[in-house]
Amino acid sequence: MEDCLFCSIIAGKIPSAKVYEDEYVYAFRDINPQAPVHVLIVPREHLQDAKALKGEKALIAAKVFEAAGRIAEQEGVSETGFRVITNCGHDGCQSVQHLHFHLLGGKQLSEKMD
Ligand code: 5GP
Ligand code: ZN
Repeated sequence: MEDCLFCSIIAGKIPSAKVYEDEYVYAFRDINPQAPVHVLIVPREHLQDAKALKGEKALIAAKVFEAAGRIAEQEGVSETGFRVITNCGHDGCQSVQHLHFHLLGGKQLSEKMD
């Protein structure tokens, strides 16, 4: 999709620090990390947000979490623990309108969810 930041990153038109990729997702380091490990896992297909994960598209959520497990291993946080979140819409503070999941770890994360 034109004019989409993450589509441009996936297409290699905008540089990124790649961490992992497969048939379904592309993952790279967040430009403004909130933890020692902060990776964005982005489905290759342009979907706006988590609400689009229905019907046959729900498979993408499974592929994202499969990738998350691999990335956690690769980043050395599989044993210590990590968090995977997706922000949806205005109140969820979604700032990029291409579905993505934050994988955070490498420190003790806060119990607070906001
Ligand atoms: P959101 O706020 O939509 O959940 O997350 C968007 C994330 O994308 C933010 O954490 C932000 O730091 C990250 N981000 C925004 N622009 C870029 C970019 O050009 N490159 C990378 N690597 N991350 C970006
Ligand atoms: Zn996109």
